[in-house]
Amino acid sequence: MSNATGCVGAPTIEPCPRCDALLGVEGVHVERVERGPTRLTVTVSTPSQVMGCPACGVVAEARGRRVRVLHDVPGEQPVVVRWRQRTWRCPDPGCGVGAFVEQHRALVRPRGSLTRRAVIWAIGQLRHDHATIAGLARRLAVAWKTLWRAVRPVLEDLAGDESRFASVTSLGVDEHVWHHGDRRTKGPKELTGMVDLTRDGGGRVHARLLDLVPGRSKKAYVDWLTERGEGFRAGIGVAALDPFGGYKSAIDEQLEDATAVLDAFHVVKLGTAVVDEVRRRVQQTTTGHRGRKGDPLLGIQTILRAGAENLTDKQWARLTRAIEANEAHEEVFVAWQCAQDLRAAYRAADLAEGRKRAEKVLNSFHTCPIPEVARLGRTLRRWSGAFLAYFTTGRQNNGPTEAINGLIELHRRLARGYRNRDNYRLRMLLAAGGLDLKPPPDVP
Ligand SMILES: [Zn+2]
Repeated sequence: MSNATGCVGAPTIEPCPRCDALLGVEGVHVERVERGPTRLTVTVSTPSQVMGCPACGVVAEARGRRVRVLHDVPGEQPVVVRWRQRTWRCPDPGCGVGAFVEQHRALVRPRGSLTRRAVIWAIGQLRHDHATIAGLARRLAVAWKTLWRAVRPVLEDLAGDESRFASVTSLGVDEHVWHHGDRRTKGPKELTGMVDLTRDGGGRVHARLLDLVPGRSKKAYVDWLTERGEGFRAGIGVAALDPFGGYKSAIDEQLEDATAVLDAFHVVKLGTAVVDEVRRRVQQTTTGHRGRKGDPLLGIQTILRAGAENLTDKQWARLTRAIEANEAHEEVFVAWQCAQDLRAAYRAADLAEGRKRAEKVLNSFHTCPIPEVARLGRTLRRWSGAFLAYFTTGRQNNGPTEAINGLIELHRRLARGYRNRDNYRLRMLLAAGGLDLKPPPDVP
């Protein structure tokens, strides 16, 4: 190994423990380490040895070495690896191979410009430390494109590995808007996401985003389920979804044996949306305009989105004042209480108790004089089977879907948007646990 004077170990193809400690690549020796003002430069090589032509096997003529510059895992400074790569020539004029250069896949893939371990490091940073390609590229002292070109094929390989779908027994489906641009150039604004909601032995859910496909439609979900194959579909016992008919008919058609369950997260959101609608309508009819600063109903907008159990005394007082400011505001309060009843069904510690509360919602909301609440009641009655199934499938709590949505939001903000849908998919799968990095990926 090495300092400015070179490796003191004999040049041998045996692993050198000291060089291995520095570079971590067996058989690659460190010749020099130079600390410059902006970067650390490490010169490495493999010892000379007899080499056969890869095509005909004839012993090749050594043609000396040439330097290839690689970017390695940075420390305080970027690290550049100067690899003194060996070159050969096949002496057989009939062979056609001609000159060829040394390859060392443990160090770098052919034509790669980042070391294998730098690629693995970068993927780990993206996955676990919410890093961005731009930030990592800066630390590596490479262009954004250079880093992405090195990372992308590894993520594609991981995403293409069907074994990551094995042992999924509980499947969620959800959609989000991924761009607000032009549909003609970027395709549909919505993406349908499949989420693994399977419990571990201890009953905990470690949600993973399994995939993202363009569009929000029955077809998007059916096609994805078809691609996964019979074995995968037969293994799904519970299929969670938001109240969207397209997904439901995909489940009925493709997952005959699965129980469809309305995702608690989405149902609670419907309740919150109803309160918002009633507040806006009452606001408009009492004041003749949309919410303005100082309007009592606008002031309690956030309080109305919270759960009653989370309100402080001060918030309760504000809520009461705003409701009492005008008789017409009573309607907003009733809608809020309805949303609270809906939440309470999911929050009940006992599933039988929760189911009782859910049935009460089903039996009362649709006759409510507040039209928005009645409409929600009719929706829930249409979905009553999937709504009540939550309480018989051992509850699928809100956390997982929300957590995945949160990660997607975070990474979108960090990257300041994505132009390319395939890149977006790979990055979101990595961030939200859909790609299995253990054991570490083999960089092609
Ligand atoms: Zn040859």
